[in-house]
Amino acid sequence: MNEPFILEATGLSKQFRGFYAVKDVNLSVRRNTIHALIGPNGAGKTTCFNLLTTFLTPTAGTILFNGRDISRSDPATVASKGLVRSFQISAVFGQMTVLENVRVALQRKAGMTWAFWRRDKSLKVLDTRALELIEMVGLTRYVDTPAVSLSYGRKRVLELATTIALDPEMILLDEPMAGLGHEDIGPVMQIIRDVAKGRTILMVEHNMKVIAELCDRVTVLQSGQILAEGTYDEVSRDPAVIEAYVGG
Ligand code: ADP
Repeated sequence: MNEPFILEATGLSKQFRGFYAVKDVNLSVRRNTIHALIGPNGAGKTTCFNLLTTFLTPTAGTILFNGRDISRSDPATVASKGLVRSFQISAVFGQMTVLENVRVALQRKAGMTWAFWRRDKSLKVLDTRALELIEMVGLTRYVDTPAVSLSYGRKRVLELATTIALDPEMILLDEPMAGLGHEDIGPVMQIIRDVAKGRTILMVEHNMKVIAELCDRVTVLQSGQILAEGTYDEVSRDPAVIEAYVGG
């Protein structure tokens, strides 16, 4: 577990009209790990996510991705460097089938790197890869189904397939289990494990069982600052963390 850091945020702060939503956060994520960002409501998790994916510009601090400062880059540039945010259903095109959605995502990736496009421009090659991704997320039966007809849980895994199609080194997952039925949680956890092979994942998630089972490291935020960091067992035994959840 001594992989180098892929993402390193230092002194990260975001002020909204004088109020610090995130204050002086130092967060480092090791390559090829699953790292969770947790904390009570209002702790600053969403703001942190928006800063790390450069949807927000920090008031102070730096974010290094693979050693390069991305804190003032735009999200599209950051995505092209391999840091992608996932689980926004809005990214799925409803009238298009599962296959067409993944194909479009692969074409987007192709558009990002000219060399890839030259190598893999034929539709046949794209479709072979698309079908592999669809199988990986368990949607093979739904290849020709319009995305709009999928259940909520299946839409979310389709969105994950379209994210993996971009071949990111690191994925930020925003509450991947939110809104899923009990029966979908196990399969989505397995998909996340598969996606994590050779990739790094940072996720905000409320389901502690999922965090305990999936995550190598957990960072706990409270009132915009880091309260604790460690393995799930370490942070869940930390009196300050227990107080934040029980007392907060
Ligand atoms: P979490 O995701 O952990 O619930 P947020 O990052 O959404 O926390 O919010 C952290 C704090 O920052 C909250 O007090 C919230 O009200 C405040 N906040 C978030 N976004 C804004 C904004 N755009 N303008 C003003 N205050 C904000």
